[in-house]
Amino acid sequence: MISLEKEALRIPLVSELMIPSEKVAHVQIGNPLEHALLVLVKSGYSAVPVLDPTYQFQGVISKTKILEETLGIEEFELNRLSEMTVKEVMDNEVPCLQPGDNMIDAMHKLIDFPFVCVTNEEGEFDGIVTRRTILKQFSKHYHETFKYNDKSK
Ligand code: AMP
Repeated sequence: MISLEKEALRIPLVSELMIPSEKVAHVQIGNPLEHALLVLVKSGYSAVPVLDPTYQFQGVISKTKILEETLGIEEFELNRLSEMTVKEVMDNEVPCLQPGDNMIDAMHKLIDFPFVCVTNEEGEFDGIVTRRTILKQFSKHYHETFKYNDKSK
């Protein structure tokens, strides 16, 4: 009983909360922008991680950045999609987490970003933690703690 209560109070680790790399859509740093846009549109995500060929995390590329970059003075210059690479447009000033960090560390970083990438000590990409995962944890915790009865059901 005591160990169950302790388990309920334990703060989950990032390694337990993250979506593992094999389930995360990503693009390569050398890909043309049009490939990145295709991945973003097909996956339905607004941004995805950027990796290099050795699986090192390099940054994040978003639909917004690509659109900003292709917008000329008066119209979209779609030729830029094949002329430019992900490296030229991606955001590399993004926070990361390590697998041994906990949910509180993740929450702080997720205030400003919808997802945060997880890297190991060698800088290799391990996965992502999303706001959705954290909100689900909170929802579960509050339902269990207060036996909350959802009247909408
Ligand atoms: P969510 O909190 O599930 O809405 O996810 C927030 C953001 O995280 C999405 O808009 C994507 O940018 C990113 N994301 C979530 N799941 C994945 C995934 N499997 N692959 C790539 N990016 C993802």
